[in-house]
Amino acid sequence: MKSFAYAAIAGTAAAAGGNWGYYTMGKDWTVQCATGQHQSPIDLNAKDKADFSLKIQNFGDQTGLHTHIHGKTGTYANGALYLKRKDNPAEEIGRRLQTHGKVKNVLQLDAEGDIELKRNEKDGATLHYQPNQLHVHAPSEHTIGGKYFDMEMHFVMLPHSATGDAHEKFVKEQKAKEGDADYKVNYAVLGVMFTETDCKDDAGKAIKECEAKLKMTDSFFESMNMDQIKQGSKGPIENRNDSWVKADKVPLKSFMDSLDTSQFYAYEGSLTTPPCWEGVRWSVLKNALPISKKQLGLVTRNYAGNEKFAKLKGNNRVIMPLNDRKLFFIDNGALSLAATTMAGLATAAYLF
Ligand SMILES: [Zn+2]
Repeated sequence: MKSFAYAAIAGTAAAAGGNWGYYTMGKDWTVQCATGQHQSPIDLNAKDKADFSLKIQNFGDQTGLHTHIHGKTGTYANGALYLKRKDNPAEEIGRRLQTHGKVKNVLQLDAEGDIELKRNEKDGATLHYQPNQLHVHAPSEHTIGGKYFDMEMHFVMLPHSATGDAHEKFVKEQKAKEGDADYKVNYAVLGVMFTETDCKDDAGKAIKECEAKLKMTDSFFESMNMDQIKQGSKGPIENRNDSWVKADKVPLKSFMDSLDTSQFYAYEGSLTTPPCWEGVRWSVLKNALPISKKQLGLVTRNYAGNEKFAKLKGNNRVIMPLNDRKLFFIDNGALSLAATTMAGLATAAYLF
């Protein structure tokens, strides 16, 4: 594996023993992906209640980020669309493409941003994580009560002790474990679902709360400049290549503030791509955000909507069994009106 980005997250590295892709949605992946008993994603249908909480704090708007897309076709097809920072954002795009393998390319998504997980299942510890990058899968990886969503965003988070100056040491220690079939990571991932909608009801009337959220997600995704990612023979999918697009003014604060953390699912699982390491604390928000047809299309044209990619399959792994794990549903307070509207939409989108 070339770098932490690949080792840790959704990247391009081969699973031990071969390349991997989405032709079979991961059914043919090896090592921990095949042998692990605590894998992700799963169907979220929990009835177990827990006194957990999830707090998102100190996020600011972002400058100097890049949208990074990685794509592969051919005998294997993998890839994802990320938003992340590079350590040398001033470098010219062309040079970065050539030097990609040498770039220390993962830094914190937000230097101040913090996600606090309170868990009472073990020692009652309060855990703090710092978002490293975010990326998306379309369709969703997790299902809620058996239903897929149009897209699922993952915030991949590291403990604060592994960020900043300590990051390099963390990467080294992790790389040394690459071949270990029982290796467990200490990551947290926050999952956020999206439903494509124009926020109109059956009579064509605008649903106000939904529209406000759609406006916010539109400006967030527009800031990622996905329309600048090359398509066709020059695109990353057809080309087996990376593409970096500047995303210099990302309204991350309003996006994070809009997340409804009152209701979420929590369980311990794994990375959803090889090497599928376990030890990941998952929190998946119950209430989906709206996404416009245009912005969703800019994602799926690289994956599920692109016949060159895994024969029109998306970049989502198949659902894994829960086995002996606990799966919690946390309900901290009544749904807001806006959240109710979105929950309704999420259901409606899959009834028709
Ligand atoms: Zn993911």
